[in-house]
Amino acid sequence: MNEMPYKTYLSENELPRAWYNVRADMSEKPAPMLNPKTLKPVTTEELEKVFCRECVKQELDDTTRYIEIPGKVRDFYRMYRPSPLIRAYFLERALGTPAKIFYKFEGNNTSGSHKLNSAIAQAYYAKEEGLEGVTTETGAGQWGTALSMASAFFGLKCSVFMVKCSYEQKPFRREVMRTYGADVTPSPSMETEVGRRINAEHPGTTGSLGCAISEAVEAAVSRPGTKYLLGSVLNQVCLHQSIIGLETSAALKKLGVEPDVIIGCAGGGSNLAGLIAPFMGERLRGGNACRFVAVEPSSCPSLTRGRYAYDYCDTGKVCPLQKMYTLGSGFMPSASHAGGLRYHGMSSTLSALLDQGYIEAMSVSQTEIFEAATLFARTEGTLPAPESAHAIKAAISEALRCKREGRSENIVFGLTGTGYFDMFAYGRYNDGKMEDYIPTDEEIAKGLAGLPNM
Ligand SMILES: *Cc1c(COP(=O)(O)O)cnc(C)c1O
Repeated sequence: MNEMPYKTYLSENELPRAWYNVRADMSEKPAPMLNPKTLKPVTTEELEKVFCRECVKQELDDTTRYIEIPGKVRDFYRMYRPSPLIRAYFLERALGTPAKIFYKFEGNNTSGSHKLNSAIAQAYYAKEEGLEGVTTETGAGQWGTALSMASAFFGLKCSVFMVKCSYEQKPFRREVMRTYGADVTPSPSMETEVGRRINAEHPGTTGSLGCAISEAVEAAVSRPGTKYLLGSVLNQVCLHQSIIGLETSAALKKLGVEPDVIIGCAGGGSNLAGLIAPFMGERLRGGNACRFVAVEPSSCPSLTRGRYAYDYCDTGKVCPLQKMYTLGSGFMPSASHAGGLRYHGMSSTLSALLDQGYIEAMSVSQTEIFEAATLFARTEGTLPAPESAHAIKAAISEALRCKREGRSENIVFGLTGTGYFDMFAYGRYNDGKMEDYIPTDEEIAKGLAGLPNM
């Protein structure tokens, strides 16, 4: 069957030596972050109170195209990278499509997702700065796990605030983090001021990423030698994730394949931003006509039903404001199983690219994504994370469109992780008990009414 290999691996020597910063090629830059109190662009000094110095530098740099990957980070990458680019022959056959489908698999490490790519970089910079510890939030648990692994590697103390519904649904995630030495607190907790306030305002809440971020920031600022690290949304995270796209681009070149459409799921936007980065760069420089598709859950539809506006990045309103597609920082998503996509906002870079017409966005419902995930597992073998299944669902739709139109397009999508810790959700689906929850227009309007007045 194979005119092309099933898997395309790069050698360790072909591992990229620099990350690519797509903002350097944007003629219209994303709007600057604002200080939540003064509403003026945040300064380096202000950001350094919360974030590591080098990360702040990367966050604010929208002109340097390539940023060297430090040797120690590259050494860690060697343990699990380059990740394979896989031709989905068996899925293609099941769909009867003339399209060629490729996926970049990021679940080949114990944390089970792409998040390790940024966790190891951020932990490295924290260690270089001489910090003792780091704090963070985690939704579904993948970021917390990744940061626990990275912290253990560099000998940093790691405190994770885990969104309560995941904490309860995924006890094994919690234990993986504890095994790597992290302490894990369900959020909203009673350990921080903002956690106590959110608990009082929303009794019985199962939490959200926005709450957990506020708690982790408060904990970082109140503990000496400790800073806060974030697993998505920020420019620095998108930068680190560009390793996914750079490897994908190199592998496709080996195969002589030009992508027609590149698809990724979008929570905070980092994996998609990273996957498309070099292709988008080419596009921005006038080089290709590739389509870029962001797929989000219909239960938390910031790109498709949100507003492009300045908003708080966290429920407690302590982080800088970003201009982004948002549902409002007070938006509490339903207890959707794709925990990693339950964030009210979106990377400012991806938001700007969507606003400028370079990206398309679509939303899919939970039952649709589990149907796609099941087909994928049964044909391609890998059990996908529900988050990743959003991209699978969209790739299948594109492949079926190609079938109807008799076109042999090249479809590339990001398979961000594995679903071993999502068996509770798979169980609901297998029992026929999974429900779709789509917010009403009133609920969306209520979230948007909380946007800052400016
Ligand atoms: C966190 C996560 C996502 C979404 O995060 P982005 O920042 O949008 O990439 C997607 N898939 C998996 C497996 C995740 O863990």
